[in-house]
Amino acid sequence: MLCSTYPFELPPLPYDYDALEPYIDAETMHYHHDKHFQTYINNLNEALDKCPKLQCLTLEQILSNPGQIPPSVCESVLHNGGGVYNHARFFEGLAPADSGKTMPGSLLMSKIRCTFGSLDNFKEKFSRCALDVFGSGYTYLVSDSKGMLKIVNLQNQQTLLAQCLEPIILLDVWEHAYYLKYKNARKDYVTGIWNVIAFPQA
Ligand code: MN
Repeated sequence: MLCSTYPFELPPLPYDYDALEPYIDAETMHYHHDKHFQTYINNLNEALDKCPKLQCLTLEQILSNPGQIPPSVCESVLHNGGGVYNHARFFEGLAPADSGKTMPGSLLMSKIRCTFGSLDNFKEKFSRCALDVFGSGYTYLVSDSKGMLKIVNLQNQQTLLAQCLEPIILLDVWEHAYYLKYKNARKDYVTGIWNVIAFPQA
């Protein structure tokens, strides 16, 4: 999907709606994927209806160069385009607990050990950052242009596409990602999510 251009379409989930139970329940997945994600796609397409010059670009090309977006639709394209990008990455970056993908590959594991001391230390630091997101947003693990790992918090539907930072994993901490099951307990969601976060296997 991320390589496609306008009009964007909802990519199917790469696993069943109940595949991440009990950490993410099927009802949340239906609302989050079929309603919230779909709405970002609809709103992005609606904003791009009015911008022929952006219709031949991929979402990454649009978001990585915001200066090319006409001012009349800039806010909408950045917010809804960011919503599409972040949700695509988020759903792709989850996998069933027994998938074999919830441990980093050896290259990433050695970088994590080098930067954070251990995988547990990394998870603890990332989780703490996720609890610090004020209001709605995301916590990202990124690699900078020198290959150094960093944890970054983003507000609302910001992305890092206009910076030289490669996303590795991300966590959606908008309330819609967890409220049906966890209510206000973001901490419990963040604790459970490690069972279904898919790390790159390189
Ligand atoms: Mn979301």
